[in-house]
Amino acid sequence: METKLTQEENRHYVRQMIVPGWGEAGQLRLKQSRILVIGAGGLGAPVLLYLAAAGVGAIGIADGDYVEGSNLHRQVIHGIEDLDRPKVASAAEKLRRSNPHVLVTEHTFPVHAGNADSLIAQYDLVVDCTDNFTTRETIALTCRKAKIPLVSGAAQITDGTITTFTPYKGAAHPCFNCLYPRSPGSDLTPGCSQIGVAGPVLAVIGGLQAMEAVKEIIGMGDSLSGRVLVYDALSARTEEIALERRGACPCASACEEERRAVNS
Ligand SMILES: [Zn+2]
Repeated sequence: METKLTQEENRHYVRQMIVPGWGEAGQLRLKQSRILVIGAGGLGAPVLLYLAAAGVGAIGIADGDYVEGSNLHRQVIHGIEDLDRPKVASAAEKLRRSNPHVLVTEHTFPVHAGNADSLIAQYDLVVDCTDNFTTRETIALTCRKAKIPLVSGAAQITDGTITTFTPYKGAAHPCFNCLYPRSPGSDLTPGCSQIGVAGPVLAVIGGLQAMEAVKEIIGMGDSLSGRVLVYDALSARTEEIALERRGACPCASACEEERRAVNS
């Protein structure tokens, strides 16, 4: 594993390495990290562009969709010339153009319960930029089992939310199902195709997701685990909601089982 940045990398990243808490050590951590971004749409666009520009060493992009005209008002990583292309191919091309130091891997398929384990096992952190409940729950459960951080964002109409899940760290760290108790068959989040979303709201939430992913990898600042940040664009306000582990949540019993295994 490399222990130094090249001279060129030092020049390239100088303006972020002088940020307190980032430094060359933080930049090396980013370079050595592998981040999977699931969803190359409205949230995925800013997340992917900023993570690549920041110098994350390996970025995976997973999405099974194709670029449509009605995507372009918010999915700013794609352009008119990308219509009908796989979103993953379109996004990967932009990232390679933005930063040739980044290894970009294309996963041109939707993530589901049958492929999540093997896909997520290849990465150190996942950023969830998808928009349906079943997929989000599958991703969260898989990250919990794999013990890797999940930075989860959502946006609809003029509101957005973001939080980080690290439930394997113990009782102070709630999981996805502590936030959304399991209710089989119900989809809590209607897609933006039905209710719409203002493009810049996705930039706000996606930008926050990229920053939280960087913080988790470098170990900077305070994690969003246990807190949900809510952004209301119309009032131009943010609110923070404390999230606690629900006693009845499966993550609590999983935690208890692990504690017993460690103690026995
Ligand atoms: Zn839980």
